[in-house]
Amino acid sequence: MPELPEVETVKRQILPVVAGRVITSLEYIDRRNIKNISSKEFKRKIVGDKILDIERRAKYLFFKLKSGNWMVIHLGMAGRVLLKPDKYVKIIFGLSGGKKMYFSDTRLFGKIWLYTKYPELGLGPEPLEKSFKLGDFKKLVKSKRGNTKVVLMDQKFIAGIGNIYAAEALFVAGINPKRRMESLTDNEIAKLYKGIMKSLKAGIVHKGTSVSDFVGAIGQEGTNQNYLYVYGRKGEPCKKCRQPIHKISLGQRGTYFCSKCQN
Ligand SMILES: [Zn+2]
Repeated sequence: MPELPEVETVKRQILPVVAGRVITSLEYIDRRNIKNISSKEFKRKIVGDKILDIERRAKYLFFKLKSGNWMVIHLGMAGRVLLKPDKYVKIIFGLSGGKKMYFSDTRLFGKIWLYTKYPELGLGPEPLEKSFKLGDFKKLVKSKRGNTKVVLMDQKFIAGIGNIYAAEALFVAGINPKRRMESLTDNEIAKLYKGIMKSLKAGIVHKGTSVSDFVGAIGQEGTNQNYLYVYGRKGEPCKKCRQPIHKISLGQRGTYFCSKCQN
């Protein structure tokens, strides 16, 4: 599933092309991704509106429209927002100046909503916001109990981290994913904060992790899969200590870690 770095990558790639353009037409191949409004109503409302800006919040893309409405897209498992079509296109947005934006989805877990005002989705803080300091993270951690990795993936706790970046952040921090949040020392919390920052930033620099379906807006794969320490590397040697990487199940998710480097 695309996480913060993948969604941020898509945002950065589509924003310069679509911002300032009017949505001149809408064509459905499949209507099932439209969620809080009928597909007919969605089309009636969105055609003629203008895209002013796109914000990324957690794993969501928020399209700010001139009417005051917000179109919100969640890519789900395999959703894509593209500037070039692929064979799974479900919705085609015609834009002024002859441009097009495509919503594609192989598995139909992607979701599109239209809201009349900025929607409050009850998400936790954005880890890469400059205002999000170590002190804020410490307060958050101290307010929460439970398995560390499961908590990191809770979008109400902190926004945008999923299975890949939770595993990577814990490796960088040297923390075993089985640890409980309430057992972390101040020093470990500081290491985890740094691990989160480092892992998410690496994902953005490498334009996303393409281990399953993720591609950027022009269909290109990211390269962050080549830089992962633990995720997807079961049995392969740890990049720090050469011991084989373990895979266990935690909160029903495959969890990768090094039992020597992570305590
Ligand atoms: Zn190791």
